[in-house]
Amino acid sequence: MLIIDNQTNGQLINNLVFGGAGFLGSHLIDKLLKKGENVLCIDNFLTGKIQNIKHLKDNKKFFFIKHDVINPIKSKIPIEKIWHLACPASPIYYQKDPLLTIRINYEGTFNILNLAKDFKSKLLFVSSSEVYGTSRVKPQDENILVNLSTTSPRACYAEGKRIAETLVDTFSKVNNIEIRLARIFNTYGPRFNINDGRVISNFINQSLRNKRITIYGDGKQTRSFCYVDDMVQGLINLMESSYSGPVNLGNEEETTIFDLALLIRNKINPSIKIEYLDLPVDDPRYRNPCIQLARNKLKWIPKIALTEGLDRTISFFKL
Ligand code: UDP
Repeated sequence: MLIIDNQTNGQLINNLVFGGAGFLGSHLIDKLLKKGENVLCIDNFLTGKIQNIKHLKDNKKFFFIKHDVINPIKSKIPIEKIWHLACPASPIYYQKDPLLTIRINYEGTFNILNLAKDFKSKLLFVSSSEVYGTSRVKPQDENILVNLSTTSPRACYAEGKRIAETLVDTFSKVNNIEIRLARIFNTYGPRFNINDGRVISNFINQSLRNKRITIYGDGKQTRSFCYVDDMVQGLINLMESSYSGPVNLGNEEETTIFDLALLIRNKINPSIKIEYLDLPVDDPRYRNPCIQLARNKLKWIPKIALTEGLDRTISFFKL
């Protein structure tokens, strides 16, 4: 059991970010600190990295505790907002220890909800477009139904996110706490883990190292990639909104994986070869968000086009 006591020097906690050393969490923390609020980050470095938060070590409004969310947490200090981003998100990582992925989403979320209950903290849970499974409907709005077997290799994550959403929603009604549910689509940008196994980090990495670009399947599957700054703004708008149902956050610009390969290759080294490998089981054919709800309720729309976001991400990988 973790007890949050004097780690914030007695200051009331404006933001507690679970998974704050991860790619998305660390960008969220930067933005919250820029707003002048304080942030307590909790991470166990399962996939998060110390490098993502090391620039904050002298910031008087930033605090850090190493802790695994599958163990309970209590606080003696009031907490205003809790952001729950704790979970490996890349298929290769969440499938490495599928039982742990399920436990993080169920037990971890339950522990975080119990913490939220003590001070009536507002809780934002980061769910995923993966809850739609392999649905071929597009664009994907919040009401389409899941299309995935419960025994799929992706189910530990997809079903984990689904039960966590149900748990957060049910717990909030029973215990009268305010919640927000974000369903985020593919997100990318600087601080992406180079060995993450995600398509953008792989393609950039391969192009920079003169290795073949690995396309899984025929490359005609699609994804819609949202730049991290846009995603962070979407999460903040959602937290500040009054809408408690699930909301898609993502960029509507859809691309095939083949076109993505060409785009990245042409930006780095047009002579790189492409290699076709087997498609992972239950790899979704299309991923394209309908963001009408986010537009209406959050007044949010992504601003960074894929080509510009890729330039920024490539610059980061070159460092
Ligand atoms: N992918 C690929 N080559 C890679 C890595 C991924 O063709 O080196 C494909 C993968 O099969 C999927 C898409 O790119 O169709 C996005 O994969 P990623 O793991 O980035 O995200 P997710 O599948 O969770 O959307």
